[in-house]
Amino acid sequence: MIPVTKPYLPPIEKYQQYVSDIYQRQWLTNNGPLVNEFELSLKEYLGLKHLLYVSNGTIALQIAIKALKLKGEIITTPFSYVATTSSIVWEACTPVYVDIDASTLNIDPAKIEAAITPKTSGILATHCFGNACDIDAIDEIAKRHNLKVIYDAAHCFGTKYRGRSIFEYGDISTSSLHATKLMHSVEGGLLFTKTPELLKRMAYMRNFGHDGPEKFNGVGINGKNSEFHAAMGLAVLDDIDLILAKRKELSLNYDEKLATFISDKPQIQEGCTFNYAYYPIIFSCEQALLDAKTELEKNEIFPRRYFYPSLESLEYVEGDCPNSKEIASKILCLPIFYHLTKAEQDMIARLLLRIQNN
Ligand SMILES: *Cc1c(COP(=O)(O)O)cnc(C)c1O
Repeated sequence: MIPVTKPYLPPIEKYQQYVSDIYQRQWLTNNGPLVNEFELSLKEYLGLKHLLYVSNGTIALQIAIKALKLKGEIITTPFSYVATTSSIVWEACTPVYVDIDASTLNIDPAKIEAAITPKTSGILATHCFGNACDIDAIDEIAKRHNLKVIYDAAHCFGTKYRGRSIFEYGDISTSSLHATKLMHSVEGGLLFTKTPELLKRMAYMRNFGHDGPEKFNGVGINGKNSEFHAAMGLAVLDDIDLILAKRKELSLNYDEKLATFISDKPQIQEGCTFNYAYYPIIFSCEQALLDAKTELEKNEIFPRRYFYPSLESLEYVEGDCPNSKEIASKILCLPIFYHLTKAEQDMIARLLLRIQNN
């Protein structure tokens, strides 16, 4: 069986050593030494001064919206994982969809201004599949209209924009360290900002608002993560360069083996150094996708329809985004993960070509 992804598991001895140390210290959670060490290692790896490690990528989005005090309408993308939209609704704001650019699959900046109303307080855009949004254009519009910008960078570990970590952009960037992401800590999330006051507010928010044991600084939630999760994060981070290099190698192998396969791929944004987090292919029509998916599944290969259906079809939102709807109906992510072999990729490619040439 070949799934769309498999979590990367570091050498078990390394994880066990961390667990033994945790047993010795008997310090399991609440900003422990491994959480601190993980935050320091991430900052060093990413070349960033500030970040916060939180329990998951969804709570990171919710804290970001809360910390920026966003109200009313938030402009967002219909082509993302459901958490991007559900976090907006959960924070009692209204998602206003702006359609995607059909080539990059990210929110189309040219369509943002028409969606701005007096109620708009911010923009929440996803760098889909690890490909950067048109950050320059989005930030320029936001500045002109006095809007806050959050980037959902859940797919972006290792992505750079204009030579710097993509996590540096926006008022706040968030990421996910869920087991299915290329860098993970089983469950986990990250918050990034360059604004010291925001960082401080989010640090309080992550820990119930605690300011010492008997004092509180504003309302908070439980967004902390544990020593066991940080231990996994540290062990995976040791191998992150190998993981990123392997993704690239696998992607290039697919490119080569599928050279004669009739499909499109998202166009990488100018200025973006891509992390090869996913391998999406866009079919000519939905039927072609369904035929391919059925055939692959018959052979125990399970690609995924990320992101189908397009989010404006959720029952709790409104919107009409033809590009997103169309792309969502005919895009399929092929298996890509550290231990995928070239032989398995060749088989996937052979099956796809066979269906096409039938
Ligand atoms: C995975 C993901 C999230 C949610 O992250 P969790 O850590 O699973 O809560 C949010 N947005 C996008 C685009 C994602 O892919």
